[in-house]
Amino acid sequence: MRRMTPYKTAVTVLSAMMLLITGCSPEKAEEHRSDLFAMDTYMELKVWCPDGERALSEASARITELENTFSVTIPESDISRLNQAEGQPVEVSPDTSLVVQKGIEIGDASRGALDISIYPVLQAWGFTSQEKHVPTRETLQKELERVDYSRIRVEGNSVTIPSDMQIDLGALAKGYTGDEVMRIFSDHGARSAIVSLGGNVQALGTKPDGSRWKVGVVNPFTTSDNLGVLEIADQAVITSGNYERYFEENGVRYWHIIDRKDGEPADNGLVSVTVVGSSGLECDALSTALFVEGTEGAVSHWKRDRSFEMVLVTDDGRILLTEGLRDVFTNQSTMPIEVIEHE
Ligand code: ADP
Ligand code: MG
Repeated sequence: MRRMTPYKTAVTVLSAMMLLITGCSPEKAEEHRSDLFAMDTYMELKVWCPDGERALSEASARITELENTFSVTIPESDISRLNQAEGQPVEVSPDTSLVVQKGIEIGDASRGALDISIYPVLQAWGFTSQEKHVPTRETLQKELERVDYSRIRVEGNSVTIPSDMQIDLGALAKGYTGDEVMRIFSDHGARSAIVSLGGNVQALGTKPDGSRWKVGVVNPFTTSDNLGVLEIADQAVITSGNYERYFEENGVRYWHIIDRKDGEPADNGLVSVTVVGSSGLECDALSTALFVEGTEGAVSHWKRDRSFEMVLVTDDGRILLTEGLRDVFTNQSTMPIEVIEHE
């Protein structure tokens, strides 16, 4: 075994410490940026660190890997294999098992508002294809009988769903992907990074100058301007809204977030929900869940669960803001704000 002299040990410890302190030294930490299209959406990644190009290519490889794992349309994906398994257990990746488990957990926390087995209903509306249309009441009723996430079993990396069930992780996949990209960036020593995965924003640390990131929240009524701006650090800001993916028939708008109570687009008083928190996966799952829960449901969910903050926009043009965001949200609209507080 090689032995270090005390002098060498001191030098090694010192340089390890220097590395820790400088990590990404400001002069070397230039901005590196990459734009890509994946998971059916535009993604923008920005990271400040010396080996930014390597960090970016690792991140985009990971995004492709997760897309190939979660996609409902790629035949070899974990989700496709599960949907074709006829009730048999399927060995999946740790990623799939973790995200399915989170889907079940937030399904419970939202009293079934989030249901990752809603997919057959989404298909009946044509949201998974080019031909979107309003299905008949009978079709919806029939497809709803297949929906019940509480029948999903997860044991380690083995997942079992009933033979008539189909699942889809569309409500959570981008959030988890954001967490993974952040992990890769921080493994590369980055202390500043920001990504937008189709409107899901996630930040690592602060801006390189130490100030907070300013993240715009879209005005769901105009979609062309901001409702306001959130100042955040080390957090995800994830929005679900009725303006993101929708079609119109006979002047009525139908959107892609479904209420399993009747199989219709969820219409419970909200036009958008923005969730702020430390986990992208959790914020993504929650944004969809809270949108379905509706105004009162979302407020009571927040009051029993203190792990996140949110901005709700109601269909009658009000902004409801949880108290943790009071000092970090700047209203740029003419809509009034009501602050929701814990009792
Ligand atoms: P986006 O993908 O547009 O950012 P969301 O995160 O809110 O928006 O996810 C919407 C997706 O979630 C839908 O495209 C569909 O795949 C899925 N989904 C729709 N309704 C539900 C629901 N009630 N529970 C679980 N997943 C849902
Ligand atoms: Mg979501």
